[in-house]
Formats: sequence, structure tokens, C-alpha cells
Amino acid sequence: MSTHSASNIKTVWIKSPLAIYTANGHDAGNGLVIQSGKIIELVKAGSTPVSKIDSIFDASSHVVIPGLINTHHHLYQTLTRAFPPALNKRLFPWLQTLYPLWAKLQPNMLHAATELGLAELMLSGCTTVADHHYLFPDALTEAIDIQVSAANSIGNRVMLTRGSMSLGQDNGGLPPQSTVQTDEQILDDCERVIKTFHQTSQTQPFGPMVQIALAPCSPFSVTTELMKETANVARNYGVRLHTHLAETEDENSFCLKSFGLRPLDYLESVGWLAEDVWLAHGIHFNDEEVRRLGQAKTGISHCPSSNMVLASGICRTKELQAAGAHVGLGVDGSASNDGSNMIQEVRQALLINRLRYQADEITHLDALYWGTKGSAKVIGRDDIGELAVGKQADLAMFTLDAPRFSGSHDPLAALVLCGAHSADRVMIAGEWTVTEGTLQGHDINRIQATHSAAAKEMVQSYL
Ligand SMILES: [Zn+2]
Repeated sequence: MSTHSASNIKTVWIKSPLAIYTANGHDAGNGLVIQSGKIIELVKAGSTPVSKIDSIFDASSHVVIPGLINTHHHLYQTLTRAFPPALNKRLFPWLQTLYPLWAKLQPNMLHAATELGLAELMLSGCTTVADHHYLFPDALTEAIDIQVSAANSIGNRVMLTRGSMSLGQDNGGLPPQSTVQTDEQILDDCERVIKTFHQTSQTQPFGPMVQIALAPCSPFSVTTELMKETANVARNYGVRLHTHLAETEDENSFCLKSFGLRPLDYLESVGWLAEDVWLAHGIHFNDEEVRRLGQAKTGISHCPSSNMVLASGICRTKELQAAGAHVGLGVDGSASNDGSNMIQEVRQALLINRLRYQADEITHLDALYWGTKGSAKVIGRDDIGELAVGKQADLAMFTLDAPRFSGSHDPLAALVLCGAHSADRVMIAGEWTVTEGTLQGHDINRIQATHSAAAKEMVQSYL
């Protein structure tokens, strides 16, 4: 996807939206103006643009929001959705059931899974995706290279996190030995992928499309030394750090038994309680831990569907946010969700939080904030996740003409409460990537056929 095409220099007015959510309180009641991949003007209700306009898009039947941002996923797991042996299990036995199957992952399968997952997310209004890939068996030492190629093809912005596992079954870990690497192999590849693929706003004035972060699978699937060294490498190159933490009570017990520490204390002991870190799930924290996470301004990727499927618990979103931590949303790996749909995840976030907080304490606007600006903060981006002058022109636009919306009165509330699941239009860096609900430049049937064949091939190789 080009972000520099001549057509992009023209100004486009996204005019008179049915409703618009800017994620920052700014008035854009009469739409916004886009030029060269960025937002150059917000048009207040009742006003017309100051900018000279080349073309107009009539958005009077669209609800417009910033492109949704998914902060946690394992795209390869789209190959093992609703896999019978793993159904209805708790986290640790669920992982132990799936690891031997995942160990069979091949390059063609990862490419197909990344393409399909990114396309599925894009169609749900998601413009930026963080993926956590931590499986590097011998056949897949260049997993991140494969994912970059698939991401460039589909066109979402991505934050690919180079995951790692160094403690296999031989050393008391959960994953099979064939899926783990040595600390040295891992650190060398971390440096290589940062140097090869990581873009910054300096190298990419139109906004980074591919960024890299470093992400041990969990603090308990790698050595203490690797946790510390990974942080050193990340901080040398100015990239972010990510891992799973505090997902279940089982993890608290495991950590106390193995290290004599609760997970957050262990995280702090290896230099990871910091602002450049974001944690997937972040459920089982006590009051004092919530305060420390807030003080450190650490990010939390709240994954409502996954937490419900695995019966993990409910994230303390409001307390974490009030303490100063950043909260965003993630769909998590497709084996635990099992869908990759960000606008549905916004609804799930609203619903699960209503089980912890009162109905007037969490609204659809809180859930939309987490899926946009909150998520941007979690992954360390200040150029996406909101509609404001100078931000990237990444938009998700939904129509409300399906039966499920009929009779609704507040369009923005209807988007979340009536259960929108597919965007009519998506724009990334000023270019349409979805129009009339259709992915541009790709044959979705081809992507799906390749993916479904890869999933069958993977399961057959395991049986
Ligand atoms: Zn996960």
C-alpha cells in the first residue's frame, strides 16, 4: 500500500457524519479534512472547512470513529479455533493441550494465519494490530519476517512483538522442547528484527506501518537472565516491551512457589515495571500493585473475550486507569477468543466491566476510548487512536442500516450496544482499505481458502 500517491495530496472532506467519536472531546460534528495521509482540519458542527477542498465524501449515513487498535493477539492461533481437545479447559491445561499442535506450525501456515487475521481485523474496523508471536521452532526461525511480509500485503499498521520461550519441558516449563530457543539465539534475532524492520516517525514521516517490540511469552517461560537482557536490548534500540502477566490465580501460585514472589514483584525485580512496558490481561493485582503499576504508567491490554472464555477473571480497568496506568483492548489469540473482531471486543469490554462496576460508572464511550486512544497509549503511539489535527488519517466508518440497528436513537451508543461487527469503510494513512464492507486489493475468498487449507494441514500433521 502506498502512502505517497499523487491522489493522496488532494484534500478530502469526510462530510456531515451521522455521528463522530474523536476520543479527545474535540468537536468534529461536520466531519474532518484529510490530506497527505493526515487529518488537517476538524470541522465543527454547523461549520464548513477553512481548507480548500478537492473532493467530498458524504458520510451522512456513517458513524465515524478513529481506526480501532488491537493491543494483543497471537495471529497464528487463528489456525486452531474451536479445536475440540482444547475446548472447556483452564489456562495451563489449555496451553499444554495446544503446544504440541502449535509446534507443527510451518512458514506457509503462519503467513496464511497472519493474512487472514489481519484481514478479519481490518473488516471489523481495526487499523493497527499488535501481535505477540513467541513460537520459533526450527522451521520458523524467520517468523517475524513472514509476518512483516503478510502485514505489508494486507496493509494494517502493525506492532510485531518478537516473542520468546527459553524454558521448555526439560527445564520445568510448559512448552515442548522443540518450540524453545537458547537465550543467545533469541537475543541475536531480537536485534536483527529491530534493525531490519522497526520504523519510527523519523524514518517514516507518514507514520510507522511496521514497528517491533520484544516480548518473552511470559516471565515464567524464559530465564531471569533473558528477561533482563531483553529489556537491555529493547532500551538500547528504543523499542517497547510486552509480555503476559497476572492472567490467572494459578499463575500467582506458580510464581510464589517458583520464585517466592508474586508476578508483579518478579516483573519489577527484572527491571520491567516501567512506562515502556505493556502487559496482556493484568487481572489479578492487589491494591498496592495497582498503585505501583499506575505510578510506573505501565500499559494494560484488557482482553475481555479471552478472559471470559478461559474464566480468568475481570481486569480492574477503572482502578488501574485512576492510578495512572494506560488501559487498551486486545482480542487475544484466536484459540481463546475465538474471533478477531475489534468492534465486537469494544462491546465485550462494556459488558464485562458492567459485572465489576455500576452501570453509570462504565459507558459505551469508555469502551470506545479503550479501543482507540487508550490502546494507542498502551503501544506507545501518539499519532493514532484519536481524531485531531496532525494525527494519521486512520478511520473506521460504520453504517447502521442492518436490522440489528433498526429503532436505535443514539448512533454512537447503537454502534456498541446493538452489536456492530463489520465496518462499511476503513481508511489507513488517508487511503481506503475497505469500501462497502469489502477489503480493497485482495480476494478475501482466496485468503480464506488458503488459511482453511493450512489449518487442516496443521491438524493432520499432528494426528
Ligand atoms: Zn495472549
